[in-house]
Order: sequence, then structure tokens, then C-alpha cells
Amino acid sequence: MNDTTPAPGAWPDADLVPISALQHHAYCPRQCALIHVEQVWDENVYTLRGRRAHERVDTAGGATRDGVRTEHALPLFSDRLGLVGKADVVEFGPDGTPLPVEHKVGSRSKGAWARLADEVQVVAQAVCLEEMTGREVSRAALFYGKTRRRVEVDVTAERRADLARRVAEVRALLAESRLPAPVADGRCPRCSLVETCMPDVVARLGDPEPDDGDDP
Ligand code: SF4
Repeated sequence: MNDTTPAPGAWPDADLVPISALQHHAYCPRQCALIHVEQVWDENVYTLRGRRAHERVDTAGGATRDGVRTEHALPLFSDRLGLVGKADVVEFGPDGTPLPVEHKVGSRSKGAWARLADEVQVVAQAVCLEEMTGREVSRAALFYGKTRRRVEVDVTAERRADLARRVAEVRALLAESRLPAPVADGRCPRCSLVETCMPDVVARLGDPEPDDGDDP
């Protein structure tokens, strides 16, 4: 924590970073700005499928089976990092240790950037749950509906440090209301915002607000 970091719980609302913004930023910084600054959101086949999958798990409430309590649509926060969000599913083991399980509609083989975005999202959930419960959360999980495959993600020191860096980056991006240059690569064809973003056109004409190159 540095001198400019507010005390726990003292983050102004405008400085709180949604976990969804972290996920979008990890996929593409321009996508994050379009959604969270410009308030643009376009549905495509991927987001529609994802929304339907979330509608199934996104119903607040819980159940206990074999000593594991499962909570759905659990609100999340981290006063330390100034993070807010919601977990699809959290499994609480017999000793009360939480395990966030984020449900994804597709498969793990959807591309490196999408995999990274999934991991950033679920690590952020784990870090929030750790602070909320006071229990160490060293594991998180992603469940891919298409393949019915559950992938565990270790919440390592490196991923925690990476998360803190990303939170600061996204907070600055949202505060500056800056629109980064398009990545204009293999991420774009799967992106729900491709029609609005026009990455090829913008890249060809040159962006009036060039990116500083720091973004992934
Ligand atoms: S179309 Fe490409 S550059 Fe534009 S927001 Fe989507 S991924 Fe980013």
C-alpha cells in the first residue's frame, strides 16, 4: 500500500474497479474502455450463449451436499484493492474455506487471451473471498460448459501481484476515460464489439489517441 492508497473501505465509488472490467481489460484494453467508459455493449453469439449459461447459475441462494455448501451469485468485494463483483458459484468446504467456480459457456481451447481473462477474473474472485472470509484461498476453478471440464487455477504470489498491477491499470484507464488503440488481431473476430470498434478501420486510419504500449 502506498501513500495514495485509501484506507480499507475508503475507496470512493468512482475508484472501485469491477471484476468484470479486469476480465475485459485482460482480453483487450479497448474492449474494457468501450464497455466501462463508453457504455457500449453488443451481444454476439458468444455473449448470448454466455448470458444464458449465467442465467442458470446466477440465482442467489445456496445448498449443502457432502459437507460442501454451494452459494450462487455471491457479491464480492476487496476493500484492500478497491474491487467489487459477483461470483457465479462459491463452494465452501467443511472447514469454511471458499473456492470460487466461474462458469464459462465455451471450452478452454478458445484462445490464449480468453483463457488469461478467465484466470484474471477467477483470481480476483479468490482474493476478494480471502479478504471477506479471513481464510486463505489458494485455489480457484473455471468450469467450461461445452466440454464439462473443470480447470483449477492456483492463486499464486505471481498471480496476486499481477492482479494488483492490473487493478491499478484499469483504475487509471477508467479515471482517464481513455480509449486505447485497437489490438486488431485474432481477438477481434470473437469480440462482441467488433462492429462498434471497427478495429481494422481505426488501425488503418491511425488512432487519434494512440495507446502508450503498456497494455497487453
Ligand atoms: S474488436 Fe478487437 S480491438 Fe476492438 S474491442 Fe474487440 S478485441 Fe478489442
